[in-house]
Amino acid sequence: MDLPLKQQNLLRAWQTYRHTPRFDNFVEFAVMLNNLTEFLRDKNAVGLHRAGHQLEQQALALFGDEATHPIEDPILQNLDHSLHELSRLIEDFLGASTSHAPERRNQPNPNIDTRRQKLLWFISNDVSVWQPLQDQLGYFGLQVENHDWATLPASDEIPLLLVDLAGLPDAQASVRRIRQDFPSSQIICLSVPSDFILLQNALRAGCDICFPEGTPLAAIVTQILDLNDSQEQDAFRVLVVDDSPTASHVIKRALEENGIIVQTLTDPLAVLDALQQFNPDLLLLDMYMPQCTGVEAARVIRQHNEFLSIPIVYLSGETDLGLQIDALRLGGDHFLTKPFNPLFLNAIVKSKIERYRALRRSMYHDSLTGLLNHTTSKTRLDAAIEASRREGAPLSLAMIDIDHFKRVNDTYGHPIGDQIIRSIAWLLKQRLRKSDIIGRYGGEEFLVALPGANEVEANVTLDMIRQDFSEIRHPYSGGHFQLSFSAGIAGFPMFNHGDALIKAADDVLYIAKRSGRNRICIA
Ligand code: GH3
Ligand code: MG
Ligand code: MG
Repeated sequence: MDLPLKQQNLLRAWQTYRHTPRFDNFVEFAVMLNNLTEFLRDKNAVGLHRAGHQLEQQALALFGDEATHPIEDPILQNLDHSLHELSRLIEDFLGASTSHAPERRNQPNPNIDTRRQKLLWFISNDVSVWQPLQDQLGYFGLQVENHDWATLPASDEIPLLLVDLAGLPDAQASVRRIRQDFPSSQIICLSVPSDFILLQNALRAGCDICFPEGTPLAAIVTQILDLNDSQEQDAFRVLVVDDSPTASHVIKRALEENGIIVQTLTDPLAVLDALQQFNPDLLLLDMYMPQCTGVEAARVIRQHNEFLSIPIVYLSGETDLGLQIDALRLGGDHFLTKPFNPLFLNAIVKSKIERYRALRRSMYHDSLTGLLNHTTSKTRLDAAIEASRREGAPLSLAMIDIDHFKRVNDTYGHPIGDQIIRSIAWLLKQRLRKSDIIGRYGGEEFLVALPGANEVEANVTLDMIRQDFSEIRHPYSGGHFQLSFSAGIAGFPMFNHGDALIKAADDVLYIAKRSGRNRICIA
């Protein structure tokens, strides 16, 4: 983790400003602070991010220009104090997260690499009321540790805190206390009376999510599973095209400070190759280059289908409004004028990339479950088969279909049906490896490919999931019901191509259905 480094950089930049209180040194300090805060956000260190963000707002309010520095003494002292407070929180955090984490009990299946399971603590004076919630979470492989308010232990890891506010004399003070004790934890409050002021108070005291009294259990489970599911993003990639090596260097440095991977290019004529090879999320394009203008380069790039939607941001000293408008019309997304503010540059770049990635995600993934969609799962299956062929490794494909699903819709309604589809998607994501392919193949049909596993191994893994799914008690307004699924498994190399595998798995799925459902058959 490079948090200590970021903290050191920040403190050093602050010392430099204290020693030589010039505007440029303050800019450097603000950049380091922004860099640290974004890092904390990306790492989901909620409490620390909150503290960092507050300090950043404080610093930005003092940004000013050459004339407003040095900052007056009482304000400076105040900033100094906040900075050291943040620094202390980071020390605590580092102390907690570097010590050895205890062995987790009741890990549902030690043989599969389950995706990052968070430590879940439940804090309540009456745990029994919440047993159904804990049962539900248990079915998805999330184990909860119970604690009561009086005896909260310290923790080596950073727990996700589920906090029951029922029956507390001063709920706000209690939330404030655990926020202090667990600055980096995500805090979810249950049983908050549905009242604006009380909800506002809980949020102010430091809770991240509040569930008003009477929130359906399914909604709470959904939220907790989603929090547990947040996957680490790949680093952002930016290609900078600028004929000036100095300008490129300055931009590269500003972006790299924020963890962005940057490649620079001084020759715009090589941009197509660079796009292919480096595969960036965004292009920063100089407006004026000797060989061609940025607008010309953008037009050439946009002739290629695969680069139609990549964000392009122009960089230029040009302040000519007409030209800027032309540049935007011809396929640019934004215009930044040099000299640029590094904070602004980073904010623009990141927000453009986030939107671009969200767009791409929606093209490849199913919106209800977040799994791969039909087309993408087939493409990914084909690619995985080719990889297995090269490596001489096995691969198994399973087609999964929920049993008697029409009845669910007919009896409990379509929204409950959708909820079931989501829950099976979570279960699969939770239990399978990151390298496995999980797709929503059709309405309530799923495609799962397990590279490296033969049919027998795949059967062992999937049968545990089948068993657990059949035990989940799905809540509806009148009580609970249970469901099952059936699956067919076929293996490569016995079946040699994607379509053959899918057909073989589908055929045995049909047999599983015919012979009583809630079972898995192997081709
Ligand atoms: P079987 O055990 O033979 O699979 O019986 P079944 O009732 O599950 O039969 P089948 O697989 O053919 O039924 C699919 C049903 O799933 C039909 C449709 O109403 C429902 N369905 C498909 N997509 C969705 C969806 O996105 N949401 C909901 N709620 N229902 C869906
Ligand atoms: Mg079906
Ligand atoms: Mg079905």
